Amino acid sequence: MTANNLIAELASSSAAERVHEHLERAWSAPQYTPEQQQHYKERIREQLQRHNAVLVAHYYTDPLIQALAEETGGCVADSLEMARFGKEHKADTLVVAGVRFMGETAKILTPHKRVLMPTLEATCSLDLGCPADEFAAFCDQHPEHTVVVYANTSAAVKARADWVVTSSIALDVVDYLDRRGEKILWAPDKHLGHYIQKQTGAKDMVLWDGACIVHEEFKARGLEDLKALYPEAAVLVHPESPQPVVDLADVTGSTSQLIRAAQTLPNQEFIVATDQGILYKMQQLCPDKTFYVAPTAGSGASCRSCASCPWMAMNVLENLADVFERTDNEIQVAPELGRQAMIPLQRMLDFRK
Ligand code: SF4
Repeated sequence: MTANNLIAELASSSAAERVHEHLERAWSAPQYTPEQQQHYKERIREQLQRHNAVLVAHYYTDPLIQALAEETGGCVADSLEMARFGKEHKADTLVVAGVRFMGETAKILTPHKRVLMPTLEATCSLDLGCPADEFAAFCDQHPEHTVVVYANTSAAVKARADWVVTSSIALDVVDYLDRRGEKILWAPDKHLGHYIQKQTGAKDMVLWDGACIVHEEFKARGLEDLKALYPEAAVLVHPESPQPVVDLADVTGSTSQLIRAAQTLPNQEFIVATDQGILYKMQQLCPDKTFYVAPTAGSGASCRSCASCPWMAMNVLENLADVFERTDNEIQVAPELGRQAMIPLQRMLDFRK
């Protein structure tokens, strides 16, 4: 099922309409000439310095942007590490290349800093599919459940939660809560929720019905075919993928965990089921190894999210170069909302210590 089919199937739901509407507005990254690349990169470097700012990029962004973040003293990481890095860095301004909830998380953790993004239009189907008012009503229906939400949510949804987790810590937190006998309400990614429930054996877990349009498209049949072609390759899968795909994995984990697996496993070849932007870091850390993108349902120009998040792709050199000149790209989180959202976020940070 392609992203469009997924949306069609859910056409009656308002979440699907929101995802569709936002996808319509997503743009593709332009092909820059080497001269253009040079021009934008120099301009971004100069602007970061002039504004005492640091560039923080997600593993799924364009490799050009990831390289620039590293070259300018910023970081490339998963959403939690991005926020943590931004908090600890001495810069006054954080330029967050990623999707909107990542900018919000950075702002919640660091309310006194200015947080800018190349575009606030870059969003996430999990965030869009979990509006705060509908989510609050869902929580109200399950008042005896501990509310655990994934980082891919708005500040308002985080503020309604007891815990915020990333994919790298979700298993441990749910396992901890289950052992304490707590009932769990999980949102928004149903595939990750099913995976966690299966791994932890959590007895009482209700799930919100959300999905990532990128990971949803990985297909078990195609993956089996690719495995047959490269029998020595280890299969690395992000748990936002559907269960039949996860079942074929040698390693299932968060972006950071998959990168670590690429480094530590003895295999020379890997099939990777997550956004292909991650291959930049894997190839950088393992230059002698070979990485293949896991097959998706779609291909060619008709595919909007073939192992490539259409919203991550909206971060381009051009809008990064004028990030300080615009007035429509600063992340704002109301102080009281930020304080409420910080409580479950802090719980996760303390849990990890
Ligand atoms: Fe959201 Fe999926 Fe894109 Fe990540 S890859 S930002 S989960 S839509």
